[in-house]
Parts: sequence; C-alpha cells; structure tokens
Amino acid sequence: MSIQTEVLVIGGGVIGCSIARELAQAGVAVAILERGEPCREASRAAAGALIARANSPQEGPLLPFKLRSMEMFETLCVEMEDETGIDSGFRKTGGIDLLLTQEEIDGVGEFIEWQTANGIEAERLEDEDIRELESNLSANIEHGIFFPRFTQVRTPWYTKALLASALRSGAHLETHTEVLDFLLEGDRVIGVKTDREECFAGTTILAGGPWSSSLAKLLGREIPGVPVKGQIILLNDRTRPVRHIVHYGKTYLTPRDEGRIVVGSTEEWVGFQRRNTVDGISTLLQSAKTFFPCLNRSSVEDIWHGFRPLTVDGLPYIGGIEGLGGFLCATGHYRSGIILSPITARVVTDLLMGREPSFDIAPFSPNRVSQMEAVDLSPRTDLH
Ligand SMILES: Cc1cc2nc3c(=O)[nH]c(=O)nc-3n(C[C@H](O)[C@H](O)[C@H](O)COP(=O)(O)OP(=O)(O)OC[C@H]3O[C@@H](n4cnc5c(N)ncnc54)[C@H](O)[C@@H]3O)c2cc1C
Repeated sequence: MSIQTEVLVIGGGVIGCSIARELAQAGVAVAILERGEPCREASRAAAGALIARANSPQEGPLLPFKLRSMEMFETLCVEMEDETGIDSGFRKTGGIDLLLTQEEIDGVGEFIEWQTANGIEAERLEDEDIRELESNLSANIEHGIFFPRFTQVRTPWYTKALLASALRSGAHLETHTEVLDFLLEGDRVIGVKTDREECFAGTTILAGGPWSSSLAKLLGREIPGVPVKGQIILLNDRTRPVRHIVHYGKTYLTPRDEGRIVVGSTEEWVGFQRRNTVDGISTLLQSAKTFFPCLNRSSVEDIWHGFRPLTVDGLPYIGGIEGLGGFLCATGHYRSGIILSPITARVVTDLLMGREPSFDIAPFSPNRVSQMEAVDLSPRTDLH
C-alpha cells in the first residue's frame, strides 16, 4: 500500500505531532511517518519546563520566539483537554534561579534589567523571601530571582494530548515506518521511500529531531547538527519539598503536583549513547542535595535520558531549502523543543497555507548554513 497525501511529516516527536495537529485542524491532509512509537525520544525525556530568560544584554531571535510560544500554552492545553479529555499537566509553577556566587549576587540588578527589557517578569529574592517560597532550601542559599510566569507541562501527557488531538482532527500516523530515502522529480521532493512503502505528498516536512541532519544528507543538503545527550532523574517525596522550578547552572528541579521531582539534566556530547551513567546521575543527585538537603531521604523512582537536537548555531532550522521544492525543515530545537512546539507548528502551517507569518522565521532559515565559513559542532556551554 502506498500513501498519497498533501503533507508528509517525517518524525513523530513533539515537533512532528504539533505540526500534524495544526495542519489537520486547518483542513490539510497530513500523515506522520514514525520509525518507532511516537514521542518516545527527546519528546518523552524532556522535563517540560516552559521557561525563558535573557542571558545577555543583546538577545537574538530565539528568546522572543520562545516567549511567543509560551504565551500559546494555556489556551492550547485547555483546547486539547476539551477535545481529548487529556490533561497536559500545564501548571503555573513559577521559577526560581539560585544565586550562589558573589559575582552572581553582584550582577543581579543588571540581570533583572535584561529580563525587564525583554518583557520577562523577574524579582530579586533575599533571605526571608526566598525561604518563604522554598522553605526547604539549604540554609547556605540566601539569594535568588523569582520568575512568576514560568510554567510547565507534563511531557508524556502533553504529547499524548497533541497526538490524540491531531488524530481526532484527521491526521494519519504510521508507526514502525522508517524513512530510508526521498523521492525526487527534478528539484522537487515528491515523497519518501520507507522500509514498508513509497509515500507521495505535495510537501514533505523533516521533523526527525537529531536524526534530521543525516536524513537531509540523502538529499545532498547540509543542515548540520549533533545530538546532545541529557540524563534525568525522577525523585519522589510526598512531603512536596520543592514548590517551584528551581534552577542553577545546568540543573533544574521541576516539581509535579503529587510530590515527584524531575531533576535534570546533563549535557553530553557522546553521540547516540543510550544509557544512564554513574557520573551523570551522581552529578544531578549531588546538585539536588546541595540545593535541598532534605532530598537525601527521597526515593529515586526512575532515571532516563534523551538526545537534544542541537544545530550549528543553537537556532532551529525552520523553512524551505533553496533550490528544493516540496520540502520544509522543522528541526534542531535543542533544549527548547517543548517550549517551541506550538509556535513552530503555527509558522510551518502559515508557510504551507500561504498566510502572513505569525513570527519572522528568517533567522531560522536552513539556508543560513550556506553562508557560514565553518561548521563547528564541538562541545560548547554558551547555549540555553
Ligand atoms: C533530558 C532532556 C530534557 C529536556 N527538557 C526540556 C524542557 O524542559 N523544555 C523544553 O522545551 N525542551 C526540553 N528538552 C528538549 C526537547 O525534548 C527537544 O527539543 C524536543 O523533544 C525535540 O523534538 P523533536 O520532535 O524535534 O525530536 P524527537 O523527540 O527526537 O523526535 C524525532 C522523531 O523522529 C523519528 N525519526 C528519526 N528518524 C526517522 C526516520 N528515518 N523515519 C521515521 N522517523 C524517524 C524518531 O524516532 C523520533 O520519534 C529536553 C531534552 C532532553 C533530552
């Protein structure tokens, strides 16, 4: 059997499912091709923290893109719950950044100015205020910043709702179907060849997460990327010792309603190495215990890992590729694929429907790669 549809989406992660939902709701015939089960890779691993902050006085286009997307969640999650009955776990948890060094404490005024300049609410917290919000914080921690608008979704619930809503709206899903190659007619992609069949469409969208770069190579195109592994631990403590999304460095503690706490996450340039390591897990536990000493008595309920799709400059690849018809990229969302899923779906749908773009995606064009002098995918720590 072969599929013939208007749009094919390669990859059933959060990005592919979000796009399929938005397109199906706009009346477009769309099919997702997923080589395994949907939303089982990074899109299941993610903590689901919906957070964005300015990390420098001059922020690039990613921050406003994230902020726009974050605004879409509440309505989206309510709509999906009405449609499917599935709670996405959207909660207005609020966030706290800890300030541990003198340099961080001295720089807090300037840091808060950067947030204000970008429309992000942020308040300085000192001893009593911080303890009022987080009574179990280590006695050594006296300074922080409160972000009242940080929220979260429960990723497995959110992606389940997205997929259910997409299918209910008429999207089609083929699981255990691996895309092996593209079908071309001149300089136009007319579909794909999978391990089961040939599929034809007016537009093919590449949403294969960290596997997108090698898929694009099949077309002779470069969208350079690298998987960055992240490990996560799930703690359980019914006393609910953590109340906000607490962050320091690369460590986040994201509390769930019932006392579970997601502690993430490492950043490792180890290719697709599928295992949790003693080093990764002990680093996370050590940070968690340093911030909240009472977590010593919590139970460890689960550990897992996933692969974030990082691009050459930390910006996603969204849009068409010069000289190639019938083809769009929607990939490379690195640490923010959950946050960016609603806006990515919206702008891709705008492109396909010929609508005025909801956001200027020119900075995310995959064609920027051809203007780069060098492609460096070596480990870095400056991306958020
Ligand atoms: C530990 C960790 C914590 C994170 N926390 C957060 C967070 O708190 N907030 C946030 O916004 N983001 C977070 N992220 C990032 C987020 O998870 C990713 O950016 C996002 O999931 C990427 O989604 P995706 O759909 O592009 O990729 P993926 O989820 O990787 O999905 C790609 C899909 O494509 C399929 N595929 C690949 N090749 C083929 C093929 N040839 N044929 C068919 N199918 C194929 C794969 O099987 C996969 O299902 C986190 C990531 C990790 C790893």
